[in-house]
Amino acid sequence: MSMDLIIANGRVVTGEKTVRADIGIRGGKIASIAPKLARKHAGRTRVIDASDRYVLPGAIDEHVHLDLSVGGMVTADDFESGTQMAACGGVTSIVDFVTPHRGESLQRALNERRGQAEGKACVDYGFHMSLTDLSRQAREVPRMIELGIPTFKQYMIYAKAGLQSNDGEIFAALELLREVGGRLLLHAETPDVLDLLVERNHTRSQMNRYGARLHARTRPDFIEAQAVARAIEWARITRGSLFIVHVSAGKSVDLIEQAQQEGVSVRGETCPHYLALTERVFGGSDGHLYATCPQVKKLSDQRRLWEGLKSGVIGCVSTDTCSFTRTQKNRWGGDFTRIPMGLPGSETMVPIVYTHGVLKRRLTINELVDRCCTTPAKVMGLYPRKGILRVGSDADIVIVHPTQRRRVDWRLLHSRCDWSPYQGWSLAGFAEHAFCRGIQIVKDYQFIGHAGFGQYVPRSLSCLVMCE
Ligand SMILES: [Zn+2]
Repeated sequence: MSMDLIIANGRVVTGEKTVRADIGIRGGKIASIAPKLARKHAGRTRVIDASDRYVLPGAIDEHVHLDLSVGGMVTADDFESGTQMAACGGVTSIVDFVTPHRGESLQRALNERRGQAEGKACVDYGFHMSLTDLSRQAREVPRMIELGIPTFKQYMIYAKAGLQSNDGEIFAALELLREVGGRLLLHAETPDVLDLLVERNHTRSQMNRYGARLHARTRPDFIEAQAVARAIEWARITRGSLFIVHVSAGKSVDLIEQAQQEGVSVRGETCPHYLALTERVFGGSDGHLYATCPQVKKLSDQRRLWEGLKSGVIGCVSTDTCSFTRTQKNRWGGDFTRIPMGLPGSETMVPIVYTHGVLKRRLTINELVDRCCTTPAKVMGLYPRKGILRVGSDADIVIVHPTQRRRVDWRLLHSRCDWSPYQGWSLAGFAEHAFCRGIQIVKDYQFIGHAGFGQYVPRSLSCLVMCE
């Protein structure tokens, strides 16, 4: 069998094991994983030498917000820069969101969103569908599943933006998605107590005294954990499939673990900023830049998140990328309720998990692959096409040097953001080379792909009968 490309001599990593092997690629797919393939095809096939390197599946960032309008501002990164930064971080698939406004059809909102990505995306992509008005949108849900969108999102907060669902709508969505074979992604924070704490602190004297620290002071861990507890109860009763996005609190990990032991279908993801930062960042002169929802919490939460990730209670890492420039963030003017929320992230996701997880022995390299590639692919319906190095899967492959570190500098990253939460940090785990469907998109840490190469990938949860 002839090959288009062979990645030779690397340490090929899956969620379970690491083997020395060559990977043969043909027609954009993995055609063979075996020793000495390169020798067999010597002189006839292009060979990339991956000696002393890890060879990983391309990571999946299942939670990004590119080209998003919020509160009269548009995020700094669109589908072009957002997927360039993904590629250089070893992410070869992203899943963004379609957010129809109340009264808009899901189909119409999807068409518009696909138009924003087409011709721009440099890696493969899909969309989750936000349910902002369940009673009117429910009838379109089966059609969305047919179109490759089996994951739906609701928000427990953001009433003013027209995104908030009440518990009745969450309950009904879980019931509906159980019937039609979909999964509910939930932004879990409890609105009433949050609003109360914000209102109490939204005074000139408090803002002068605490500045950006008020963002953290008004969102203690119970704001998330109480919402997680409520949602778990609805999942238990409806037997719907629940996925808590961006888990930030240790208490939430405890709740999810207990529910899983009791047989509730609940899973979760956490993000690099919760694993690497603490709320101390809000005390710095640039503290407001770090505002995101939910916000980063205490060191004890960070420790519990790493434990949860290690044990698999938290099965996935994603970034919740939502970038705003300094100029955009600076519009807060000292008022913590006016900070545009979100951080850039896809480029530093795997490097943070690798450097602070694998190199600090909190995770094995196989666990990194499972949490950043394989489990996200399974949970989001991309498996086995993506998320694994296996014959027949897409040749989404990343070559990583095990120890070589690079200093993070926002000027060298691919986000249009003019800052990074990890500025000056020394991280290993960036993509030295990356391939998407067998085409090289990163070479020697430089992006060499092009806009429009990324394809829309329809997703399906039907494989989950086998893989759960
Ligand atoms: Zn998000």
